[in-house]
Amino acid sequence: MGAMSRVNSKRRRKIRERLCEAQNHRCCYCGEDIREGATIEHVNPSAHGGKSNWENLVAACRPCNERRDTMNPTKFYKKIIAERERRQDQGVAA
Ligand SMILES: [Zn+2]
Repeated sequence: MGAMSRVNSKRRRKIRERLCEAQNHRCCYCGEDIREGATIEHVNPSAHGGKSNWENLVAACRPCNERRDTMNPTKFYKKIIAERERRQDQGVAA
């Protein structure tokens, strides 16, 4: 953790605002409203070595961020999608 520590807080806030806007203020994983307490995720963890590219960042809600923990974000995203599809298959409203 602390991958964003290299980025100064002003820039970090700007990145978060841009990410949230680009995602319509929705979590990239579950689609929850993230206007309150958005977290920034690295899509490619191998880019943790100082890289905080706009392309490598997504905004997520706090529960997803905590649920993902150390899981690869791509894997986690697939897991969320799989769960959602399973729910739809069962005919349960998501
Ligand atoms: Zn979420």
